[in-house]
Amino acid sequence: MCIFCKIVEGVIPNKTILENDEFLAFEDINPQANVHVIVIPKVHVESFAEVSSDTMKNMTPFIQEVTEKLSLETQGYRLITNIGKDGGQEVPHLHFHILGGQSLRGL
Ligand code: AMP
Repeated sequence: MCIFCKIVEGVIPNKTILENDEFLAFEDINPQANVHVIVIPKVHVESFAEVSSDTMKNMTPFIQEVTEKLSLETQGYRLITNIGKDGGQEVPHLHFHILGGQSLRGL
């Protein structure tokens, strides 16, 4: 079981920001900005390269809800997903990084 599946199962603790039946948003353990949140589907999907359009259809408003909850709407934020080896993906479970709470210009 991958590390993010273990988080979904509650085997590894997390600091949850928002959750529904399909998705979970939690604080990154090694934040790269003042706000650094990870958003995952609860079902195991390896990366963006494998995700279905149905999952993305529901994930999009979930991510937007997370950014609203974090009050990032006015100032903006960065949304990133790394894919595979060259993309620098370390955890093989689709996740979006939400980075913000500061200017990311030049980072
Ligand atoms: P990536 O390099 O795109 O695969 O990013 C994986 C991210 O997961 C990194 O930013 C890690 O800091 C984060 N991460 C790894 N383990 C945990 C954990 N147990 N709880 C929260 N974030 C984690």
